Amino acid sequence: MRHGLALVLGLLASAGAMGQADDYDLAPRQVAANTYVLLGAQENFSFDNHGAISNTGFIVTDDGVVVIDTGPSRLYGEAMRAAIAEVTDQPVVQVYITHAHPDHFLGSNAFEDVPIAALPQTTEAIREIGPDLASNLYNLVGSAMRGTTAVVPTAKADTEHRVAFGAHELELIAARGHTAGDLMVFDHSTGVLFAGDIAFHDRAPTTPNADIAAWHKTLAATQQRDFKTLVPGHGPVVEGGEALAQTADYLTWLVQGFEQAAARGASAAEVMFMPLPDRWAALAVEPGEYRRSVSHLYPAIERAALEGDDTP
Ligand SMILES: [Zn+2]
Repeated sequence: MRHGLALVLGLLASAGAMGQADDYDLAPRQVAANTYVLLGAQENFSFDNHGAISNTGFIVTDDGVVVIDTGPSRLYGEAMRAAIAEVTDQPVVQVYITHAHPDHFLGSNAFEDVPIAALPQTTEAIREIGPDLASNLYNLVGSAMRGTTAVVPTAKADTEHRVAFGAHELELIAARGHTAGDLMVFDHSTGVLFAGDIAFHDRAPTTPNADIAAWHKTLAATQQRDFKTLVPGHGPVVEGGEALAQTADYLTWLVQGFEQAAARGASAAEVMFMPLPDRWAALAVEPGEYRRSVSHLYPAIERAALEGDDTP
């Protein structure tokens, strides 16, 4: 044990000595009054992008800074705090975690002095599988993950009342579909909706924990809201509901294609290597994300098709 600990500490020390190599280069972009987004790479996890593949954001208010998602690692979280300090002297006073996927919450080590709020489903998932998600991300991203542990949120997001920070009135929206708990943060004072991974923009949606029917319901309900600017979990910030529509269209195409393939008895391997139509082949992380969705979604659709098939 002692030998193992010494080894780990030695590795940590040498990783620390590697210095700048893993530093995140975070440049906040202002998308509305007092509202900033740090755009992630439209890529899969890699050693090169250090896991910074999703969007994070923050709102500067007279009551302090509200952070939406903390990124993939302790170092990302620390870099995010430094980037916030370049913009404002206000302290960070609140963190919201949109959902329990590793690219969105594993930077919370850098915010442990601040209330970290999430939906109950998110907190539960992080408690249960957070450590596995963290160690898996170490394998995919490498030393940029050093010092990262899965911090369990400390508070329940208040989805009953609007929450005021300075002049910013935030509505915390409890949704689901991408995962069992998808929190959206709607700033009524600016019209900015932080949609988390309910919305993917020019990037294929990920489906490991998806309930597609629930996701469609959420997308349709969100489309009815009077937001002005939408910050998707992945991809460029956009005015209006285009990212919601694109996500809905993709999910519809995905499931219809799987149902048609299952009806003609196609194997998962065949479905996996079907060519994508141009519109969807052009999305970032395709065809990889499509193939992952085959493994997530096709077995159940195939089973349903077989059970519905009453030929002897
Ligand atoms: Zn994500």
